[in-house]
Amino acid sequence: MSLPRRIAILGSTGSIGVNTLDVIRAHPMRYQVVALTANQQVDRLLAQCREFKPRIAVLGDAQGAKQLADALLREKIATTVLYGPEALVTAVIDSDCDTVMAAIVGAAGLLPTLAAAQAGKRILLANKEALVMSGDLFMQAVSDSGAELIPIDSEHNAIFQCLPSGFNALHNDAARAECGVEELWLTASGGPFRTTPIADLAQITPAQACAHPNWVMGRKISVDSATMMNKGLEVIEARWLFAVPLEQIRVLIHPQSVVHSMVRYRDGSVIAQMGQPDMRTPIAYGLAWPQRISAGVVPLDLTQLSALNFTLPDLNQFPCLSLAFAAARLGGTAPAILNAANEVAVGAFLATELAYLQIAPLVEQVLEQVPASKALTLVEVLDADQTARRIARQCLARLRSQ
Ligand code: NAD
Ligand code: MG
Repeated sequence: MSLPRRIAILGSTGSIGVNTLDVIRAHPMRYQVVALTANQQVDRLLAQCREFKPRIAVLGDAQGAKQLADALLREKIATTVLYGPEALVTAVIDSDCDTVMAAIVGAAGLLPTLAAAQAGKRILLANKEALVMSGDLFMQAVSDSGAELIPIDSEHNAIFQCLPSGFNALHNDAARAECGVEELWLTASGGPFRTTPIADLAQITPAQACAHPNWVMGRKISVDSATMMNKGLEVIEARWLFAVPLEQIRVLIHPQSVVHSMVRYRDGSVIAQMGQPDMRTPIAYGLAWPQRISAGVVPLDLTQLSALNFTLPDLNQFPCLSLAFAAARLGGTAPAILNAANEVAVGAFLATELAYLQIAPLVEQVLEQVPASKALTLVEVLDADQTARRIARQCLARLRSQ
């Protein structure tokens, strides 16, 4: 048996982080946890440190870090506790990890995930926002360093599995064309409001928006799934991950969430990946790739399904999806602006400061007010992100004073 893979988990207390540790727990000879990070959940991180004894643990602020360090000292657990955004990069670089699970939600995940790319790690990419914000720069860093990038987002993981092996490493257009890939079909459940009349969405609460019919996820991505901004972000993510033009990426509503995505080939074949809606499957796939390990997931029983349905999304019902396509077509910093505005809008909605139906108009206003540029450098991307957040907060303040 070879040495265990050394794993750093960015965002270990979140939905993806906890699922990752669940898979790792079942394979103690294969994986060693060397770094864990969280923003504020001290107790949950402490419990994880007790169990997995990482070299480094990171929290969002000094107060939380002191609490964790004191508790670990009392229990004689020799984990170094750090805090703040730079410490996330330290967790990637100084923990001696070979694999990074990038599972911080939002733009906060960008810098440590990029550091993992630059350092040539195996990156299990759950954080889609990093790629949405800086796809070109990120993929360039992956290619320069020889990092291995394995998508964990279920749709992209499905497509990764349905593409010919090694497709992503082909940078020659002729060689890619020979593979005969015509279209990537991203499936979407349509979220909790797929069939709800728009007029009934005015009073939607965060709890209702977070009650996803098929998946259990963090709050931000749950709201994004309800608005379908999540699918929009995923279209942009797919565009960069698989280096495929936007026109070759389609979205299909598939309420059962059994087919996680598909690839249509020139010869008429459509290859789909199916499974339970359980993130442990793509996580286990990424951890073990190119081997397969058990994920603790209940086997899929097709005889228990009465139907698999597929329809095109109604863009009037899901204006956030249109906005994401528009930002994707504009390119440059437009997706970073879209993402930042959406993070502010969703944060405000979750804090009950913005109505559900105001999320899309707020994002649209920010896209109109912040000019996009080419996104040639990280500074430019971060600048667009900050400007978009500032304008979004101004729009929010105006809405609230009306
Ligand atoms: P979550 O909210 O459950 O967890 C987020 C994690 O990030 C937590 O550990 C939190 O402490 C940490 N975090 C949050 N803000 C931070 C900050 N400012 N600095 C440092 N750490 C911070 O989110 P999740 O559902 O696990 O999603 C994580 C990422 O994975 C997101 O980008 C999401 O889009 C993506 N994703 C999630 C799922 C899913 O099923 N949950 C599926 C596909 C993709
Ligand atoms: Mg997804």
